[in-house]
Amino acid sequence: MRLTFILYTTGRCNLRCRYCGGSFDPAKVPWRVEYNLKLLEDLVRGGDVIAYYGGEPLLNIGFIEDAVERFWDCRHVIQTNGLLLDRIPREILDRLDAILVSLDGVRWITDLWRGHGVYDRVVGGVRRLREMGFAGDIVARMTVTFESDIYRDVTHLLELGLFDHIHWQLSMVWLDRRLWGDLWGWIESSYKPGLERLMGLWISGLWHGEIIGIAPFQGILKRILDGGPTPPCGSGEDSFAVLTDGRIISCPIAVEENWAWVGMLGTVSRCELEGRRNFIGEPCRSCELLSICGARCLYTHRERLWGDEGVEAVCTCSRHIVELVRRNLGRIEEATGMSGLGMEDLAYPEYNNTVEIMP
Ligand code: SF4
Ligand code: SF4
Repeated sequence: MRLTFILYTTGRCNLRCRYCGGSFDPAKVPWRVEYNLKLLEDLVRGGDVIAYYGGEPLLNIGFIEDAVERFWDCRHVIQTNGLLLDRIPREILDRLDAILVSLDGVRWITDLWRGHGVYDRVVGGVRRLREMGFAGDIVARMTVTFESDIYRDVTHLLELGLFDHIHWQLSMVWLDRRLWGDLWGWIESSYKPGLERLMGLWISGLWHGEIIGIAPFQGILKRILDGGPTPPCGSGEDSFAVLTDGRIISCPIAVEENWAWVGMLGTVSRCELEGRRNFIGEPCRSCELLSICGARCLYTHRERLWGDEGVEAVCTCSRHIVELVRRNLGRIEEATGMSGLGMEDLAYPEYNNTVEIMP
């Protein structure tokens, strides 16, 4: 069984995005790695995935260099805010399978939530990576807010021609509920119709033999064809996060929550990790879509930050996108057949590269 290890390289961040707040309190997530990397050797096997995470992982490039050298037979991935891409040494760049970069869509929305000038710096950094010949998977990770227009923002990022895949996560339940205002109006009149238009675009690409890298559609299709962990991001089943002080947790966001606790490095075996399964409660446990939707996100499923309304909103969006893919399976098959593609060509990601699949 292949596992993904999400390694915090630091709790510090060089941005302070409005939906996140920036660096962790060092008492909760230390800003330096305090354990010996050798301890990880008992858990990691060749072929596993190592994903560098933070805070901003590129603030500790030395740790990344050590880990890439030590775990030379693993796949290496970085999730970064994209401001320090020029710090990645050439020999590390050549070893990276995927770089996931945060961008929220068009310039104004990215700069509104992440900070003035962020869009241009990140896009410039990604452009340089391409000019340097980086041939791995570059994924734009969008945080979707009530100002997002999913069709506009996804197509904008696609049109830049820099990204292999676009993924997004809904920020509802992470923000103050009052900020979302007309939540249900946004879901019904903006998000759902936007998804329908994106599906139309995706299928028209397939007719021409082009697989447009809309990661949620591809990931959901993969789960329909092959199944996968619950939740789809794999947290606590095939993906584990290691904090800078050596704590192992299931979901990288859940740095304080008891349900996410797995153990300390040095006290947990590979066997225990491989055998671990999450507890899923209602309404997901008895949902007919559970094998595809996977309860969407373990953190929001467990924490229920907006109470019943949050559960319902997240579920409505999840149900809609899963059913959108299911409803279009016939058209997808027809288009792929006509252009000589196979359904398996559409499935993404090939391995758990930390794209969470369900937005
Ligand atoms: S569709 Fe809703 S109830 Fe069903 S698994 Fe997903 S979030 Fe849970
Ligand atoms: S999708 Fe949810 S459970 Fe998975 S890593 Fe993100 S916050 Fe954690």
